[in-house]
Amino acid sequence: MSADRIFNFSAGPSVLPLEVLQQAAAEATNFNGTGMSVMEMSHRGKAYVAIFDETKANLKKAMNVPDTHEILFVQGGATLQFSAVPMNLIGKTGKADYAVTGNFSNTAMKEAKKYGEVNIACSSEDKNHTYIPAQSEINVSPYASYFHYCSNNTVYGTEWKYVPETGSVPLVCDMSSNILSAPLDVSKYGVIYAGAQKNIGPAGVAVVIINKELAGAEHPLTPKLMSYKTMIDTDSMHNTPPCYTIYMIGLVLKWLEKQGGVEAMAKLKAERSKYLYDVIDDSRLFVGCAEKAARSDMNVTFRTKSAELDDKFVKEAKAAGFDTLKGHRAVGGMRASIYNAMPIEGTQKLAAFMRKFEVENS
Ligand code: PMP
Repeated sequence: MSADRIFNFSAGPSVLPLEVLQQAAAEATNFNGTGMSVMEMSHRGKAYVAIFDETKANLKKAMNVPDTHEILFVQGGATLQFSAVPMNLIGKTGKADYAVTGNFSNTAMKEAKKYGEVNIACSSEDKNHTYIPAQSEINVSPYASYFHYCSNNTVYGTEWKYVPETGSVPLVCDMSSNILSAPLDVSKYGVIYAGAQKNIGPAGVAVVIINKELAGAEHPLTPKLMSYKTMIDTDSMHNTPPCYTIYMIGLVLKWLEKQGGVEAMAKLKAERSKYLYDVIDDSRLFVGCAEKAARSDMNVTFRTKSAELDDKFVKEAKAAGFDTLKGHRAVGGMRASIYNAMPIEGTQKLAAFMRKFEVENS
């Protein structure tokens, strides 16, 4: 790692691979002999269309997206998808199922209520979202237009370890904080969406992967830009796309492939989080916030015995080069977000720092 970089544990926007940043810097004023920056190019020009097509093809390859599905790059973040999903899909039966396992899925569920009838198929609210309900606790309604869940709960540090079984009801998943972190069978999903700013690139784009069969049944008042059908028909270019962010995603995807793709990421994420969970499990000071069986490899949430000591930890960690470790206000304590681009060294060194802190504060 470069000497002037710190370990950035931000939940998003978050750390990007150093070599991606360096390449973007090298190409900042003259991309590939064009004499201009990617920021300055027409989105319909040859040079940019090549970047766009390559990025989309590389995402298709990285996630093994079948031809039944289309990849879209849209604006408005994952949050606009909370509205786009019901506007496009709930009309089929007027009903949808939501699994509520954190604040984002709760917000998505509330948004869907504006457009139809919502069944809360399961919820972990009874224990402040410290766990993921088992399949046997999920109440799938056969008449739902879709079943929505969030595969990794960024705030609470929990991750679904299985794909919910919903029969013929299409699965819709907010994968903002764990997309591209492990192999996935995309064919099981009706819609996958994710804000880019964790595992995919900088903020400004949400990636949507949709089974094309589900498009075209949107509510008539759906804005054109939020219509999956329009975005499929125009290859995400109904208007000017966030060109530069998509270019950055392209660089991240090339980096990902060089690392060994999602298989390598799956191995790495288990290794990376283990350093921190081992400290937590051995510790008399640190306690994990999430139940063991549901612990996320992307967001590690933990606390000490007191809010004062938590503050001290965050402050001293920052001084030692570990940035943005304060937990979300809904959980308190600390959160180490350790997405794909976090070097393994980051959690190795943070683990050593935690052990030292424990000795000094026991
Ligand atoms: N879903 C999840 C799981 C998230 O972590 C976030 C943002 N942290 C969002 C949705 C909202 O994303 P955005 O800010 O891109 O709208």
